[in-house]
Amino acid sequence: MLSVTDLAAGYGKAVQALHGVTLEVPDQHVVAVLGSNGAGKSTLLRAISATLGLHRGSVTRGEVTLDGRRIDTLDPAEVVHAGVVQVPEGRQVFGRMTVEENLRAGAATVKSSAAVSQARDRVLELFPPIAERLGQRAGLLSGGEQQMLAIGRALMSTPKVLLLDEPSLGLAPKIITQIGEIVTEINRRGISVVLIEQNATMALSVAHSAYVLEVGRVAASGPAAELSNTEDLARLYLGGHAESERQAHEEEDLAAAASRPTLTRWAG
Ligand code: ATP
Repeated sequence: MLSVTDLAAGYGKAVQALHGVTLEVPDQHVVAVLGSNGAGKSTLLRAISATLGLHRGSVTRGEVTLDGRRIDTLDPAEVVHAGVVQVPEGRQVFGRMTVEENLRAGAATVKSSAAVSQARDRVLELFPPIAERLGQRAGLLSGGEQQMLAIGRALMSTPKVLLLDEPSLGLAPKIITQIGEIVTEINRRGISVVLIEQNATMALSVAHSAYVLEVGRVAASGPAAELSNTEDLARLYLGGHAESERQAHEEEDLAAAASRPTLTRWAG
């Protein structure tokens, strides 16, 4: 079980992004974290993966534990070693490296070559389109394939908990459905998933439970099926206005991604 207790975090003295967030991710559960732009979702994931420092942020109160062991005091590599791996927002694959090299990079903390080979087999079984493109440069993959590779790379360290930051962002509806199915399949293999999403419909359809963040605080939480029916969530997040705004943003993102030359989508 991953537990976040009374977590406060921010960036310097000026920005307080989380104000005492408490959240539980039971073993082998998918937990969705919803909320509008700036609600603190990415900050929460960074706090769990101990990567806030890389963004000039810090935890100012509270703690994160995995099976009772504090992990917020570890460094990012130790958190990976403990079994918690984050897939950052924006499909950050190493564009000039091959698909195979990207996967190997995800296994950097794994000592045994037999374990790397087993993890690779599992990842390739999960993502057939990736398996067909092992020798290709990752920057040449489609947006959906890059997202699969980013998730596959994270799975190479055989985590207990996978942290996904807006995996559906900027992807076409059909691919978003596939991402949802992939989350379900990963979970079926015994891995817990924390799924940050602005696409509440997809997230609630695959999650066991969900939390809604609003300006750094938990505004609502509960079983996903119940939450998707509550007036609170409709008011807070699924309201007609918010939903149409989100769709407009997604369309803008898609249009921007389509007009961008491939090179600028390369990361790493
Ligand atoms: P989005 O959906 O836009 O990614 P979010 O819910 O993930 O939003 P965060 O990115 O966690 O929200 O941002 C929470 C608050 O912290 C916002 O006010 C944001 O401007 C601020 N913030 C985020 N990253 C930084 C940073 N590196 N430096 C300073 N402030 C930051």
